[in-house]
Order: sequence, then C-alpha cells, then structure tokens
Amino acid sequence: MESLAWIAWAVEFLVRTSFYCRTFGKFVRNSCCGIASGTSCLLLIPAIFVSAELTSLLIEPIDWIFSQLFSFFYFLTSILPAEGLIRVSIGNLVVLLLTALGLLLLLVPVQKKIKTLSLPLLLTMFLPVSERTLPGEFTLTIFDVGQGLAVLTETQNQTLLYDTGAGLDAQNNVANSSIIPFLRKRNIRSLSALVISHGDNDHSGGAAAVLKEVQVRKIFISGSVEIESAIAELCEEKVKWEWDGVKFQFLNQSGSFDYRNSNNGSCVLKVSGVGGSVLLPGDIEAEAEYDLSAHYKELLASTVLIAPHHGSKTSSSYAFIKRVLPEQVVYSAAYKSQFGHPAVEIQEKYLSYKAVGYSTAELGMISFEFRQDNTASGVSSFRRQHPRYWRHQAFP
Ligand SMILES: [Zn+2]
Repeated sequence: MESLAWIAWAVEFLVRTSFYCRTFGKFVRNSCCGIASGTSCLLLIPAIFVSAELTSLLIEPIDWIFSQLFSFFYFLTSILPAEGLIRVSIGNLVVLLLTALGLLLLLVPVQKKIKTLSLPLLLTMFLPVSERTLPGEFTLTIFDVGQGLAVLTETQNQTLLYDTGAGLDAQNNVANSSIIPFLRKRNIRSLSALVISHGDNDHSGGAAAVLKEVQVRKIFISGSVEIESAIAELCEEKVKWEWDGVKFQFLNQSGSFDYRNSNNGSCVLKVSGVGGSVLLPGDIEAEAEYDLSAHYKELLASTVLIAPHHGSKTSSSYAFIKRVLPEQVVYSAAYKSQFGHPAVEIQEKYLSYKAVGYSTAELGMISFEFRQDNTASGVSSFRRQHPRYWRHQAFP
C-alpha cells in the first residue's frame, strides 16, 4: 500500500510540475532567462509542496500584503459615505445588460475599434439612479425593533423618525443594530424631525443613540418624555406642517384624559400624501381612542395604520377602527412577545374590517411606498427580500 501511495505522489508531482512549467514557460519562452526560469520552476514549485518552511516563507508575505490591504479598506469604509462616492445604477436591468455587453466586448477577441465601444457601455452604470421620490410621495419604513416601535417617513427632501425602539443607554440599544445602520445605508446624516411618542423605554430608549449619530432639526415629544433639548416641543393638536407636498398633523386631543398617563398621552401623527396616508398612534389605549374618534371623526381615516400599543388587547377599539378604516395594519411586535402582542382577537378584529395585517415579528422591517398611483403600493418585507436559509420554510 505504501508503494502505491508513493506512485500516486510521483504521478501527481509529475503532472503538477509539467502543468506549472508549461504555463510559466509560455511567458518566458522567448526570453534569455527562459532556461533559468524553467529550471527554477522545475525545482521551486515541487519544493513548495514538500517543504512547509518554504511554503510559509512565501505565504507569510502574501498574508501580510492582504492584511495591509484589508486595513486600508476598513479605513476607507470608515471615512467614506456608506453608499460610496458614486451610486452605481446596476440594479436597473437595461443598465445591467449594457454593462454586461461592455464587459463582453472588453474580454472577447474583436477589432480594437469595436473594443473601444466597451467604454461608453461600461460608463452607463454610473448614470444617475432614477428612484427619486416625487412631490407628494413618501416612503414609510417600520423597523424591526422587537418589543417597541420605530418608524421612518421619507418625503422627497425630508425625513421624520417616529420613535426609536428600546435601549439602556447610547451604546446598548436596538437603534444601534436596526435604525442607525439603515440611516447610514441611505446616507441620511440628519433628520428633519424626531418624534418621541411617549416616555416608555420601548419607544424612547434609542433616542440618545439616534441623537448621537445624526443631526436632528426638530424634536416633538409628549408630556411623559424627559429630554434635555432646546429644540424639543410638545406634539400638540395645532401642530401641523407640509414637506414636499406631504402633510403632517398631530391629532392629540388634550383635556378629556390624563396626559400624564404615558400610553394615552402618545403623540398621534397623521401623514398624508398623494398615494395614501398613515396614522401613527403610539401606544394609545381604548380611552384615548374613544376621545380621538369622537373629536376627529373622518380625519382619522388612513390607508395604513400602525396598530396602537403593538396590537394589545387594551387598544384597537371598534370605535377607533371604524373611524380609521385602514386597508393595511402593521403590528410592531417582538417574536413570541411576552405580552402576547399582537393579540389574536385584535388581528381578527382588523380582518373583519378587511384590513390586511403585517407583523414585524414575522416579516422583519416593513416598507410602504406611497406613490402617485393613489395606492399604498409596493409593500415590502426585509426578511422576505433577504431570507436566511434557515427561514426558507417560513414563507411558502
Ligand atoms: Zn410600546
């Protein structure tokens, strides 16, 4: 058996040597160093396979060069914007095909004149990305923050973050793993407004981390939020504004219930654009819902509703649902929530009003595109778009 192993080794040695020498020889065939190179090749390459010392002698410098390169790349990523200096529009199918054609022309043996065509074809991938939001349109992103809430609204030129998820301090919080990477990816370096709906940690816990990461021009809070900021103001009923043709309005009704109650005092925000509207009621419960329903009536009607209090049994009263009449309802809840959010009976309640339900616990981050075709089109789930292989079975 031992002799067989030796024969196998010898055959492999000969095959490898002849292969490397032939390949290497092609480059040096016509040079005066051909014989020397060939001889070195013949001696050196087999030696690499049999000598661990020689291998490490060659591999270590290569390892050093690569580690220096990686350090340089890490440095570049720390100083460059997350999306790079140039946005490559490779996601566009036409651009992708033109780029592929350019690469093909570059690689195949064709006349030089034809080869020069590859340059303009390759340059098409640097064309501006045409995914701009038009006036009146907006994108809504509900982050997957487990137990808590964080929602980003992006109009053509403005961004508003409603709530920041849970957290202990500026280092240990969900914002660092969910909201902030998204803001960096989208190259959002400042927020036009931050709304902290109420003081509960699952809504306000990530505020310190967000304020540390991005510049915030305006902060809206409810009475239960404790924050030291000169730009913070209460989300009162009369506060409303318009950005890029998208209307924002707080629907808080003060007086008839105790605003110091953290949940019922949540900032209730309605955002309306050309393609639909969304209602963000924080953690209000039935008491506040009755109050709002009686006061605002049809004004509560919205295409998308972020279920109050994560779909808790204490919220989503019939009076409120009848006024909002959402087409879609989103439950921002933790996987196997310890509080039972969203409650099954609440999900059934919305279904009885033909509102399609989505849960961040099942779908991860959820986005809605409110475009000009007058529908809350383009609902997308991060987990469905980027499934882990072990989650594959979860979505038939
Ligand atoms: Zn909450």
